[in-house]
Amino acid sequence: MTYLFEPADVPALPIAGRAELFPVRRIFCVGKNYAAHAAEMGSDVKAVFFMKPADAIVPPGGPVPYPPGTNNLHHEVELVAALASGGRDISKDAALDHVFGYAVGVDLTRRDLQAEARESGGPWEASKSFDASAPCSALRPAADTGALSSAAIKLSVNDQMRQDADIADMVLPLPAIIAQLSALFTLAPGDVIFTGTPAGVGPLSPGDKVHASIDRVGALDFAIER
Ligand code: MN
Repeated sequence: MTYLFEPADVPALPIAGRAELFPVRRIFCVGKNYAAHAAEMGSDVKAVFFMKPADAIVPPGGPVPYPPGTNNLHHEVELVAALASGGRDISKDAALDHVFGYAVGVDLTRRDLQAEARESGGPWEASKSFDASAPCSALRPAADTGALSSAAIKLSVNDQMRQDADIADMVLPLPAIIAQLSALFTLAPGDVIFTGTPAGVGPLSPGDKVHASIDRVGALDFAIER
């Protein structure tokens, strides 16, 4: 069996201290998972799920262009959990057994198109699921980070702090996210979960330098291409 044309490369993330790459299968995202962010968006506090295509991942050092079709590109720093195994109807108690490791991700968002989608009740893909919309750091194995129920999560733009919070403030903590997602989707090895952003989201311009970090997980640096 041959393909009509060469299949695309498998999107992948490096793993700190390991030679292997982590192959990304799907990107699940959680919206409105910090009360202070839901409030700044004028939303109710109820976590929602959406997705990005796997090839929206930008591994460390990869290019992050300013996307077409928007005048209001926003940053959202998020804890990313990467699954080495999956299944359906995973219990909260067993959820963290499926997590291989963690990373620092930024859920780039065309905020103007998201506002239009909210207004019209339309889908979110154009606002959330565009090319290079998921810059992500190397993964740090959970064996190295230990349990991550609390850790400082920060993002600065051109050395000015924009987001400064703690992952302990998630509405749905990671075990609950995995339990709820696995009741809706059969989770699989390679799935990664962007777990939502704290307050302080804001606009990015071409040339801006973004620095994002989560204690014990790592850091991510990228610039928006001019
Ligand atoms: Mn987000």
